[in-house]
Amino acid sequence: MEIVKVVPRGYCQGVVRAIQIARKTAETYPDQKISMLGMIVHNRYVVEACEKLGIRCLESPGLTRLELLDQIDEGIVIFTAHGVSDAVFEKARAKGLTIVDATCPDVEKTHRLIREHTSSGDVLYIGKRNHPEAEGALGISPRVHLITGIQDLEELGPLENVMITNQTTLSMLDTADLISACLERYPDAAANPEICTATTMRQKAVMALTDTDLLVVVGDPHSNNSNQLREIGKKAGIPAALLIETADDLREDLIRGKHRIAVTSGSSTPTPLTDAVIATLEHYAETGTFVIQKQTAPIL
Ligand code: SF4
Repeated sequence: MEIVKVVPRGYCQGVVRAIQIARKTAETYPDQKISMLGMIVHNRYVVEACEKLGIRCLESPGLTRLELLDQIDEGIVIFTAHGVSDAVFEKARAKGLTIVDATCPDVEKTHRLIREHTSSGDVLYIGKRNHPEAEGALGISPRVHLITGIQDLEELGPLENVMITNQTTLSMLDTADLISACLERYPDAAANPEICTATTMRQKAVMALTDTDLLVVVGDPHSNNSNQLREIGKKAGIPAALLIETADDLREDLIRGKHRIAVTSGSSTPTPLTDAVIATLEHYAETGTFVIQKQTAPIL
């Protein structure tokens, strides 16, 4: 049995930056109330580690970032790597909160593009409904229209000076299909694909895998980019693709008889979790004995 460690995998620079910002805030202001508006990145182990540093994480399914702000009355609010709308900034300022912005520079770039374009035209934004990154982009202007599939395009009327862009962590393959559909509907539109470099490189590395019978993606089920890696693996023809959170989710029957297993992880997955998965698979490959190897390094 061969274990392939897909490169690149794991943390991207936007996630590393967001975690550093959160940690520095906790160290600099130990006596202040610190709240995080949503999961700083979509990984519950990172969120738990932040909570141990004294950072309260606010996340309620169905509530927008704007609504979550109602739960913070004082202290510091950290905006997550996914970015927020201008309305969230304004409300936080109006409440007298100290803002720490951990928005990924790649998300900010997409926001700038949208902001510039909506002064003179409409934007078709390909993204996931209720995802915080999409919420931030849609909040820029009523001229930003969310496209989750063909049906959303069919419901739109005539638009002016259309630009097409997208959430940074989508599947390259699905996004290309939807951009084509947008161009069919609005042939004069300008397409500005914005899948970030980190997401693109991780997806291309999975697409390049050959002779692989199992792809193991380590990531949180809420992580869009981790889910996309599993879907890309299936579309690339790998017969089986798993998304697991930790080595504890592995079972011998899932890997028995496999000849080549590839391991990757989403850009929000802590390296120690992926390392424990790789160590478990390598131990099985070397000894034929299935023993879950424990995470050895701290999450943050
Ligand atoms: S996945 Fe891309 S957009 Fe998201 S935090 Fe990482 S670099 Fe930024």
